[in-house]
Amino acid sequence: MGKIYTIGEALIDFIPVQTAASLSAVDAFQKRPGGAPANVAVAAAKLGAEAYFVGMVGDDPFGHFLKDTIAGYGVNTRYLKTTKKAKTALAFVSLADDGQRDFSFYRNPSADLLLDKSDVEEIEFTSEDYISFGSVDLVEYPVKYATEYLLQKAKAANATILFDPNIRKDLWDDLNECRQTILTFMKYANIVKMADDEVEFITGKSSVKEAIEVVKQYGVEHVIVTYGPEGSDAYLKHCHSHADAHKVDPIDTTGAGDTFVGALLYYLDHYKQKPDQISPEMIKDGLCFANHAAAIVTTKKGAMNAAPTLEELQK
Ligand code: ATP
Repeated sequence: MGKIYTIGEALIDFIPVQTAASLSAVDAFQKRPGGAPANVAVAAAKLGAEAYFVGMVGDDPFGHFLKDTIAGYGVNTRYLKTTKKAKTALAFVSLADDGQRDFSFYRNPSADLLLDKSDVEEIEFTSEDYISFGSVDLVEYPVKYATEYLLQKAKAANATILFDPNIRKDLWDDLNECRQTILTFMKYANIVKMADDEVEFITGKSSVKEAIEVVKQYGVEHVIVTYGPEGSDAYLKHCHSHADAHKVDPIDTTGAGDTFVGALLYYLDHYKQKPDQISPEMIKDGLCFANHAAAIVTTKKGAMNAAPTLEELQK
């Protein structure tokens, strides 16, 4: 069995206790562990994978809380570093009645951005391993270059790399730079996973078919698109597959995409399926599995706490 590594931000999400049209209208927030790569690692670990989170938090109460929480869910935190040079990243979230979320990030710079190449040099990969990363920590700080160093190393080892851009537009002064950075990092990925509402921003194409052609020009062979309550599609080099979402009454979709990724990586690792060789039946089964795990997350508030164990999923 391989290992699943996720690289990037672990942060505190302050979620609103009531819906409100904007962040300024929220009266009170609750603290929740978050950060997409941390959520992915937890989702995979709760299913039974050997998952590692690679990142940095501040040597402060929020950083200690994140490290304890992630480790408590079974993630190996050996490569989760702590620094006194900056505080743990915070993100305040508002939720409107129509489900629209607004984010405001506090990181000037936050600890996650200071992860340096020297912090990750000891990590070695094999061809059985999986690496997942996003775009939130690809801004101009040491973490971008630490991530790039690890991706180069993982690629040289023939590990499988999944890129879920998970775009947060308010983190970028220049949206063109955001798009260009995402396109530049595609060259490292075997699989790119996009939510349907990200496709046009990233590729400039509103049609998924045309968007996939753009992504392939950047050297990506396999593309997965998720459609919220409409499920997900895999456009692999050799086949296409669709799986409907599981029917649920969602109350909070936070972490649905991250749990989808964690569950899909768990599935590929558990059944020793590489995207190049997986059969159409198996990829459909993998999408169903990931959709099912993600649907469960939407039925509870929060992300890490709501990600299912294998037992919960089998029920
Ligand atoms: P998020 O940013 O909310 O974590 P995302 O935008 O990255 O998620 P989505 O396409 O919204 O990704 O959702 C990912 C997967 O989660 C979907 O493919 C689906 O399987 C599941 N999912 C999301 N919303 C629902 C829903 N309302 N009902 C059932 N399943 C859902």
